[in-house]
Amino acid sequence: MQIAHLRERLRAAGAGPSHEQRVLRLWAQALPQTSGKRRPQDFLPATLLAALPRIESELARIARLQSVHPAADGAERLLVALADGQTVESVLLPRDGVCISSQVGCAVGCVFCMTGQGGLVRQLASAEMVAQVVLARQRRPVKKVVFMGMGEPAHNLDNVVEAIDLLGTAGGIAHKNLVFSTVGDPRVFERLPQGRVKPALALSLHTTRADLREKLLPRAPRMSPQELVDAAEGYGRATGYPVQYQWALLEGINDSDDEIEGIVQLLKGKYGVLNMIPYNTVDGLPYRRPTWERAAEIARTLHRRGVLTKLRQSAGQDVDGGCGQLRARALGVPAA
Ligand code: SF4
Repeated sequence: MQIAHLRERLRAAGAGPSHEQRVLRLWAQALPQTSGKRRPQDFLPATLLAALPRIESELARIARLQSVHPAADGAERLLVALADGQTVESVLLPRDGVCISSQVGCAVGCVFCMTGQGGLVRQLASAEMVAQVVLARQRRPVKKVVFMGMGEPAHNLDNVVEAIDLLGTAGGIAHKNLVFSTVGDPRVFERLPQGRVKPALALSLHTTRADLREKLLPRAPRMSPQELVDAAEGYGRATGYPVQYQWALLEGINDSDDEIEGIVQLLKGKYGVLNMIPYNTVDGLPYRRPTWERAAEIARTLHRRGVLTKLRQSAGQDVDGGCGQLRARALGVPAA
């Protein structure tokens, strides 16, 4: 179900704008029907009251928890079953965040990513993205939503933008706490500035070398690292939200002194932060995580040379590592 269809259903059942907003707010914020001072029967039209139980049971069937995998750092990895039997992963992050998926599978094919190995299975509808947030909110408070799970949001742009719009309005999430994470695509830089809810931007850079990036992210749009940073910088400055540059640190691949020099040339003085995340090793894939000492040394060097750098662990890394592995395991798919 798309959110636009849900709105049509509500209007067809007699909902005016304020009724529609109330129903969407209760759903997206996982609030009980009795929430608020007035009871629904005091102000919702009778036709809508009659239609609501059916609509609510359809909303509840969009996504359900298949399994929950707590991690030592307070994160929880969730395997979420969709109505057609497909599954996606969400991660409840420490400090009231949730990372959600935007597609089943992914067409970008990043060579170090489990999700990328199987290609795209299907797009998620906008309501399936919001439903992941609803499931998360049924477990704990959510104040931040990052579109950083399975899938490339730029490849499902209409639906992701629709989900962001709802989460940033009826969903009650501050716009700067909605994070659109992309490998970079010209359509993103045209589209996001037009929305009434403008999310923060995370850009998966991973290398400063265009030739290496083509190998690591084989089906990402052919924008050079310089073009990507220029476009992201423009969006970040326009919104007032610093760009989050993402860098999965792979031993012997993108941790060289040449790369450090390239990062300084590319990002020094930019309106953003570099999140350096030592890679989570995936069974069957030939990429390795550098030592924490090496990663810390790189982060210190970049800091000293004027690039704001944060060294991060990916949340819940003791539970089947990176995204896509829970789903693969549930499907019985061996790593490539
Ligand atoms: Fe897709 Fe992200 Fe995996 Fe790359 S890292 S294949 S963009 S899900």
